[in-house]
Amino acid sequence: MSDEVNPFSSLQRQVEEAVQYVDVTEGMLQRLKSPERVLETNLTVEMDDGSTEVFTAYRSQFNGDRGPYKGGIRYHPDVNREEVKALSGWMAYKTAVAGVPLGGAKGGIVIDPSEYSESELERVTRSFATELRPLIGVDQDIPAPDVNTGQREMNWIKDTYETLENTTEPGVITGKAIENGGSEGRVEATGRSTVLAAREAFDYRDEDIADATVAVQGYGNAGWITAKLVEELGATVVAVSDSSGGIYDAAGLDPVAVKEHKRNTGSVVGYQGADDEISNDELLTLDVDLLVPAALGNVIDADLAGDVEADVISEAANGPITPDADDVLEGKDVIVIPDILANAGGVTVSYFEWVQNRQRFHWSEERVNDELESIIVDQFWNLVDAYESHDLPSFRVAAYVIALQRIDDAAEEFGPWP
Ligand code: NAD
Repeated sequence: MSDEVNPFSSLQRQVEEAVQYVDVTEGMLQRLKSPERVLETNLTVEMDDGSTEVFTAYRSQFNGDRGPYKGGIRYHPDVNREEVKALSGWMAYKTAVAGVPLGGAKGGIVIDPSEYSESELERVTRSFATELRPLIGVDQDIPAPDVNTGQREMNWIKDTYETLENTTEPGVITGKAIENGGSEGRVEATGRSTVLAAREAFDYRDEDIADATVAVQGYGNAGWITAKLVEELGATVVAVSDSSGGIYDAAGLDPVAVKEHKRNTGSVVGYQGADDEISNDELLTLDVDLLVPAALGNVIDADLAGDVEADVISEAANGPITPDADDVLEGKDVIVIPDILANAGGVTVSYFEWVQNRQRFHWSEERVNDELESIIVDQFWNLVDAYESHDLPSFRVAAYVIALQRIDDAAEEFGPWP
């Protein structure tokens, strides 16, 4: 893994750049660059044929100065310690920039879930939940779904925890089914914050998002909801893509019809209402007003950034732009709304889920969406304020400045101990 793509190095580089503008001690800087603790465990699990297999799993608790640790659990063969550490740091900075009273964590198991039966996955998950039990809890650390995990895995973790603790504690996990204490609006939350932040960015540029042309890379949960909501604001979605390639139509695509086509065929490619098929790199370099990367990390590197023509980029995906590409985009005066604000809708509505669980009360979808809008809009303008008042190089640096300051302020209140 080269230094450039090692995600933990990227995280540390982002913190070091922002920390120049924040008054923190050297000791605090070290604290803000590394996780507080990382659990590494080897799960020995019985397979359906009676054999046993061992799976390495991690939980990184990056920072809990502002509240309980919060972050997803992913199942993927590429899960590794460095990536989990980086992702836990981004969660800590995301909850801080969103202003929700939570810390940051992330977990994962090195596994390709497609190769295992449901009962094997249940035993793997319950084994991990047993290892996690001393670390997690409604006031300690609250896991959530991530890549290749969903409501099913969260229900297994919650049930294991509740059984071992002899309690009912729905708030120990978020991302639950509504019937199990999940929140209205969670499924749309990430796309919604991506669009709300973009709407405010156009306002900042004295433009109206309704006049914008839009390209969206990735047509999963975050990408398709972004396309649908931005179109509802009057914008024209001219291009979308997925792992099979992209489609383009200057007159605009119908996001709902494209979603239907993907549901039927497995891809956006082949949709009859489009003019052209394009590659993912062509999509990222289209001359559009708004570009939304909503697929993978590191898709825009320094080379590709030189060809980016969008005026505003709203990062639905985590880490789609490499640090070197950021430098190129700064030189081109592109507004990049960083992932830790743009896609913070997901963790913000997870926070609402946790609040509702603690209240044992269910909010309406309208209330969830209204509360989310006011948080994203307020935090966007806080970011503008930091960017302008400190004359910062980018919105990303502004977001890290705000997050670092908020964590440092919280830590300063209690000081080091003993
Ligand atoms: P998803 O699995 O629902 O969708 C991912 C999409 O990306 C799919 O359409 C897939 O075909 C596409 N894709 C995969 N490889 C690609 C490639 N090489 N080129 C182009 N497209 C490719 O995932 P999601 O939940 O929509 O998440 C997308 C991104 O948003 C991830 O980076 C995720 O970490 C981030 N994110 C999601 C949430 C959330 O609540 N869903 C919250 C925060 C961040």
